[in-house]
Amino acid sequence: MNMKELIELDKKHFIHPTSSIQLQQEKGAKLIIEKGEGIYLTTIDGKVFIDAMSSLWNVNIGHGRTEIAEVAMEQMKKLAYSSAFSTFSHEPAIMLAKKIADLAPPKLNAVFFTSGGSESNDSAIKLVRHYWKIQGQHDRNKIISLKRGYHGVAVGATSATGIPEFWNMAGHMETGFAHAKNPYEVGTIKSIASIREVIENEGPETVAALLVEPVQGAGGVLIPPSDYFQEVRKLCDEYGILFVADEVITGFGRTGKMFGIEHWNVEPDLITFAKGVTSGYFPLGGVIVSDEIHEVLKEKSEGVLFHGFTYSGHPTGAAVALKNIEILEHEGLVENSRLMGEELLKGLKEIKAELRIVGDVRTIGLLGAMEILHDPISPNLKLAPRVIEALHERGVICRAVTYDDSDIICFSPPLTITKEQIQTLIEKLRESVLTVKQELV
Ligand code: PLP
Repeated sequence: MNMKELIELDKKHFIHPTSSIQLQQEKGAKLIIEKGEGIYLTTIDGKVFIDAMSSLWNVNIGHGRTEIAEVAMEQMKKLAYSSAFSTFSHEPAIMLAKKIADLAPPKLNAVFFTSGGSESNDSAIKLVRHYWKIQGQHDRNKIISLKRGYHGVAVGATSATGIPEFWNMAGHMETGFAHAKNPYEVGTIKSIASIREVIENEGPETVAALLVEPVQGAGGVLIPPSDYFQEVRKLCDEYGILFVADEVITGFGRTGKMFGIEHWNVEPDLITFAKGVTSGYFPLGGVIVSDEIHEVLKEKSEGVLFHGFTYSGHPTGAAVALKNIEILEHEGLVENSRLMGEELLKGLKEIKAELRIVGDVRTIGLLGAMEILHDPISPNLKLAPRVIEALHERGVICRAVTYDDSDIICFSPPLTITKEQIQTLIEKLRESVLTVKQELV
C-alpha cells in the first residue's frame, strides 16, 4: 500500500496513544516507520532517522536484532502461550524470575509479571495495599509520589503520576493519592520535608507506600542529588512505609547501572520494571518484591491472590526477555551506557559553552537532557519543540518536555550507540539549536 493510502486509513481508523487527534486529522501520521536497524529507523518512503529516544526509552539493545526474533520463533513453535494462573507454570517464566532476582538488589527476590509499565505500577499499588491489609492495617492504602513523576496511564498509575494533564484527560485524580515536591525543583532537604508534610497531612497510619522514579524520565530527565534516596529510605523507615522504585525507564542498563537506584546505594522494598527488560521486542513488565514482603504474602495471604493478567509470565515474552538480558550482559551494554553517557555529556557541554541559549545539561548513563534558557522578556517561549522539529528535519527523533515552565530536550538512545554516532547526534543537535537561536533574532 502506498504512503498516501496508509495516511488516509490511519486518519480514519487509528486512534493514536498520547497524540493530538486534531493534528493527526489535519496533517496525517507524522512518520510511517517500516524498519529498524541499530540506532536507525527507516520510514516507508525511505527516510532514515537516528532514534535518539530508543522509541519510548525502551529499545535498549537497538532495533533489528534477529537473535530475538529467532528465540521468539522457537518459543512460539514450542509453547507460544499458556497461563500462569492457578499455579500453572513454565520454564521461561521461572528462569526469567530467577534471572531478574539475581540482577536486582540482594533482598528483592520474587517477581510478579505484567504486560507493561502501567500494569506494573497498578500491581505494585495493589500488592502494597494487600500487604498491609493481610497484616490488619486496612487503612494503610494511600500512595504518595512526586510532582512531575510519570507512572503510566492505568487508573492507579495515572493518579500516582504527578503531571495533572494526565488526570484531567478523563476527569480527576482518584482519592488515596497525594504528591510531594520533587528534589529537582527544591533540592533534597525541601523535597524530603514536603514528603514528610504530605505523610503528616494524610495521616502516617494511612500511607501504604512512596512510589518514585530513580530519575524522573517523562518529567524531563530530572536527576536527583546524590544524597536524595538515602534520605528517602530513612524517611520511609521512620514512618514504616514501603518504598517502591519505578524503574520502568531506568531499569536494565539505561542509566549505566542495571537498575537506576544502584546509583544511590539503597534498597527499595519493591521495584517496578518494563520497557528495557525486553527492549520493546515483546510487551512485558513486572514487580520485584523484597523477601520481607514475600514472607508476609506466603504466611498471611489466604486463598487466591485476586490479581493477575492473562499475559502475566507470558512464555514467549519471558524467552525474549531472557535473550535481551543475555545480549545486555554479553555485549557489555550497561557499561557502554555509562561510557557513552559521558560522551554525550561532553558534547552537550560543548554546545552549552558555545550557545548561550542552552541552560543545564545532564546525563546519567544514556538518559540525558538539555534545557533551553529563557529570555526574561519572553519567559513563556517554548523553544524545545522547535529544536525537536529542526532535529527532525536533520533526521533525528528526539522528545521535548514543556510541562510547567520547563523547556527541555530529552535523549535516550539505544545502549548500543557508538562514539561516532554520539558525535553525529551532537553535530545535528548543535545545528538545530543554532537554527532556532538564529530564528529568534
Ligand atoms: N513508569 C515510567 C517511569 C514510565 O516512563 C512509563 C512509560 O513511559 C510507565 C511507567 C508506563 O509504562 P507503559 O507505557 O509500559 O504502561
